[in-house]
Amino acid sequence: MHPLIKGLLTEPTVVTDGAWGSQIQNLGLAPGECPDNWNLVNPAAIEQVASSYVAAGSRIILTNTFGANRIMLERHGLSDKAPAINKAGAMISRKAAHDKALVFGSIGPTGKMVFSGEVSESELNEAFAEQAVALAEGGVHGFVIETMSELAEARIALKAVQRLGLPVVVSMTYDSGKGFERTMMGITPEEASEELKVAGADVIGANCGMGTEYIVSICSRLRSTTNLPIWIKPNAGLPEVIDGKVTYNSTPESFAGYALKIQAAGANFIGGCCGTNPEYIRALKRVLSQKA
Ligand SMILES: [Zn+2]
Repeated sequence: MHPLIKGLLTEPTVVTDGAWGSQIQNLGLAPGECPDNWNLVNPAAIEQVASSYVAAGSRIILTNTFGANRIMLERHGLSDKAPAINKAGAMISRKAAHDKALVFGSIGPTGKMVFSGEVSESELNEAFAEQAVALAEGGVHGFVIETMSELAEARIALKAVQRLGLPVVVSMTYDSGKGFERTMMGITPEEASEELKVAGADVIGANCGMGTEYIVSICSRLRSTTNLPIWIKPNAGLPEVIDGKVTYNSTPESFAGYALKIQAAGANFIGGCCGTNPEYIRALKRVLSQKA
């Protein structure tokens, strides 16, 4: 096990952070604007989001770089800014974290699928390697490859960032199939667990998806197939569209109640994905530290 992960696991459950996108929107991101570019054009707002999670008690915070691979940035004509956006994102989170939290660099999917030939393995490898190098230059302590639905892409990303010697979490999104137990590409937790272990992930996980209720069984299924530490970040309940706006059917308290079930199902790291905010993390911290 990577020494940094081993050190963290002396705590019963490590509390991570919550959603960034919605927080950035609350601070004025325009519809269609690239949130990752705010690392360069509005760093104070990004630091505010990062600091809000540190204040809420997150032991690990991420970086505002989920969509900052050059393939995703191409949609905004910002590919060439990929190194600068990632390095700045890491530096902003490090500044906000001080010595209170660790910073893991967020690496999301490229939005293109290997199986359909939309993108080649070498293009993916180059994009992820570029992102990871810049995040490491900015000072991240580890990486979270997250919201993945295709195992090929997850494996290529893992391979590209592993070379830097920092710990890597690989987290898939299970939001499809009966009982929302498969990724969009049909991958089960058992398949992901097996393949990602062989590929050398330090931590495996599940994030986003259909909320707290469904992720408990995903976590149990990951736990039944691996001894690796498990990282879980559910959305704040089931997404519903009300008046054209996506909302989530949970409160910080009900969310934190599920965290106990997720902990019992074997998770070592727990945080929140879409729809969560610092209040959710505060509730999570309260419930998990009462238990410990
Ligand atoms: Zn999410």
